[in-house]
Amino acid sequence: MATIKVLIEGYAKPLDKGWKANSTVCLVTVGDKKIITDPGCNRETLLKALDNENLKTGDIDYVFLSHRHPDHILLAGLFENAKYITFDTNLMYNKDVLLEFGEHVLGEDIEIVDTPGHVNEHLSLVVDTPEGKVAIAGDVI
Ligand SMILES: [Zn+2]
Repeated sequence: MATIKVLIEGYAKPLDKGWKANSTVCLVTVGDKKIITDPGCNRETLLKALDNENLKTGDIDYVFLSHRHPDHILLAGLFENAKYITFDTNLMYNKDVLLEFGEHVLGEDIEIVDTPGHVNEHLSLVVDTPEGKVAIAGDVI
């Protein structure tokens, strides 16, 4: 079983000219692995949220990126030890090594699924938790 904690609740608010937006950021813990989903674009808020969990950027094992929109991915590079699961032709980046991944690369409790619609290349996670299956669906919904 895996657990999910919402570190940052996402928002999209129109301004007079533009938007104020950040993705929802989740911490998924499965076994001894820590996964950040869509780290967003607000560095100060993200670092504070990690600090609240007694985590440093180097403690994160995987970063999952649902799709390419900047409010979801601008802070992806913060996690110096993480491997990156990306929407980009379903490749996992381990520094400069690109590897294909299967739907259960994050373990049997987490399934990576294609969820096109918002954009063609969009991935979601379906996580088996003690409360049941939970989808982390980026901007699909
Ligand atoms: Zn989007």
